[in-house]
Amino acid sequence: MITSLRSLTTERQRRREARIRQLEQEREERERAIFDRVPELAWIANLQAEIGLDLARLLLRAPTKFGKSFDQLKAWSLELSTQRQALFRQHSIDPADLEVRWDCPACKNTGWLPAEQAGPDTVRPPQKCHCLLQEEFDDLFRAAGLVGPLKEQTFEKFDVTVYPAADRDYMAKLMRYTRQFGNAVAAGEPAESLLLMGDVGRGKTFLSSAIANVVVGARKTVVYLTFSEFLDLVRMHKFDDDQQYQEGSQRLMDADLLVLDDLGAEKVTEFVAQELFTIINHRMNRQAPMVVSTNLSPAELEDTYGSRIASRLLNGFDAVMLKGQDVRKVLRGRRMGLA
Ligand SMILES: [Zn+2]
Repeated sequence: MITSLRSLTTERQRRREARIRQLEQEREERERAIFDRVPELAWIANLQAEIGLDLARLLLRAPTKFGKSFDQLKAWSLELSTQRQALFRQHSIDPADLEVRWDCPACKNTGWLPAEQAGPDTVRPPQKCHCLLQEEFDDLFRAAGLVGPLKEQTFEKFDVTVYPAADRDYMAKLMRYTRQFGNAVAAGEPAESLLLMGDVGRGKTFLSSAIANVVVGARKTVVYLTFSEFLDLVRMHKFDDDQQYQEGSQRLMDADLLVLDDLGAEKVTEFVAQELFTIINHRMNRQAPMVVSTNLSPAELEDTYGSRIASRLLNGFDAVMLKGQDVRKVLRGRRMGLA
């Protein structure tokens, strides 16, 4: 389903804040348990906090609690630390249990590495941590709709041997051709939109998601929608959530690649046809690439979606035909050990 990239950032932020709170709570719970077991440790922790306050008061020239000098306080604190270490050993306590156990110690789960003095006059500004970059990358896949099996359907896994021997050369060529398309879009080069035609089970979805995976892998934005998901989106506009529809359709127009999988034979309303036309037309005018797949013949396309859409798809797209038999049967047979 369509999720806006803006809401993904907010969601990510919320997820991180919640996780940080959780990890801090876990630390407090561990500390409480340890202090219950060894009360001397709680006493030392309190005293060290008081000493810290007195050190600060000395720096501010304010009256102190213990009336000791800076050096005396330092020595006392050091002595307490030694006692603390001894208590850890005596009670087999891992000192790390008193610290927060960050998933990413580098950024303490914030996703950001703080600004750093990089030279005498240069400060390196805060930078995204590798964990945030990875998370954004994963979110791009999710936002693209590439989840579950779709994420696994890559060119590397495309297997021509599921096709009849006579069609394998053709399908291998077609695979290379669609892969070139994916690489071009990934590199931001101009590419003519693809119309993948062929009967059910010829691998249209596989090739569509393989292309989408290449493009998302290059950190471009992709929206991958089945036609029925597109219908759900349009219904949102009609019924409940116009804002979400606006955001969603905007993403369909703006994405570096739009994949519309499985334009089927179900008759669409005038309104759906209009929305579909607007999006296709907008992208074609901007020369923004699309992959559309269908099991309909040209005549059926025109009959179902009207001549305006059919003509855009058949004349404006690079139409390729997938051959062979229903490969899903072959795959099912293989899973059952039949072939
Ligand atoms: Zn990190």
